[in-house]
Amino acid sequence: MRKDLRTAIRDARVHLEGAQRIAVLTGAGMSAESGIATYRDAQTGLWEKYSPEQLATAEAMSDQPDLVWSWILHQARVIRSVEPHEGHNVLGTWQRELREKNGALDIITQNIDDLHERGNADVLAHLHGSTFSFRCFECDAPSDYELQTATPEQLAARPELDQLVLEDPPPCTQCQHGFIRPNIVLFGEMLPQQAMNDALDAVRSADVALVVGTSNIVQPAASLPIAASAAGAKIIEINPNVTPLSEDADVYIADTAGNVLPELYR
Ligand code: NAD
Ligand code: ZN
Repeated sequence: MRKDLRTAIRDARVHLEGAQRIAVLTGAGMSAESGIATYRDAQTGLWEKYSPEQLATAEAMSDQPDLVWSWILHQARVIRSVEPHEGHNVLGTWQRELREKNGALDIITQNIDDLHERGNADVLAHLHGSTFSFRCFECDAPSDYELQTATPEQLAARPELDQLVLEDPPPCTQCQHGFIRPNIVLFGEMLPQQAMNDALDAVRSADVALVVGTSNIVQPAASLPIAASAAGAKIIEINPNVTPLSEDADVYIADTAGNVLPELYR
């Protein structure tokens, strides 16, 4: 470990010592070491021909429901085929420990995967929704659709878009004419208001905000560390690459979530 890295971790530990309320803000980088690519890194395969901005929209879902559904389904199966890493697990343990001391570790994530939950942590706010719950695209009725796990062949294939086996989205059982979609926030859609309110409450009452694996450019999520800081929280950022937040963070740790979180918890 480089010396400046060691110093940063030591400084972060000082802020965390005795902290009763920790807000953890996570982005795609939190899941990278589990094998789920961040947008920036995902320049191959499924992302080569279409950017998420083109495909993950309500318009695309309405124009080409089978393509968008099959693409989302494939992402969901990939997510289910990987495991949470040590960083996810540590957050689960840390959360239980703080709760026993009447404190809190509130997780606010931009990720639509379920790796925090599978690391035995509760997520306070899924700002961009979740890939594993569904509703009707037309009438909004919640759906109890359950995702099928992928066969090893389907997973190994990691197909490109033009090789996807197209499946139609299942029909809604309530209105009969709509089809179902996952409860994720598509480009151009509003964030769930309750999740954003919960996130704001959590960061404003936090002693420390840990900002992990997010590029800090997607709004309004990027405003949360600023709100935390304005309310008096210390900001610790974990990201191998600098972001617009790094300079203003109280401590910036230039390493990965999987390396740093276990070090901070120790
Ligand atoms: P992003 O892809 O824009 O940025 C990811 C950040 O993580 C980068 O700053 C990168 O330097 C950092 N990073 C990469 N590897 C890391 C590691 N091992 N440890 C720590 N940091 C690491 O992602 P974003 O800021 O979360 O926002 C973009 C959008 O992408 C979000 O809306 C999110 O919903 C969506 N997204 C979600 C997933 C997922 O659910 N797992 C995956 C890809 C994209
Ligand atoms: Zn319906």
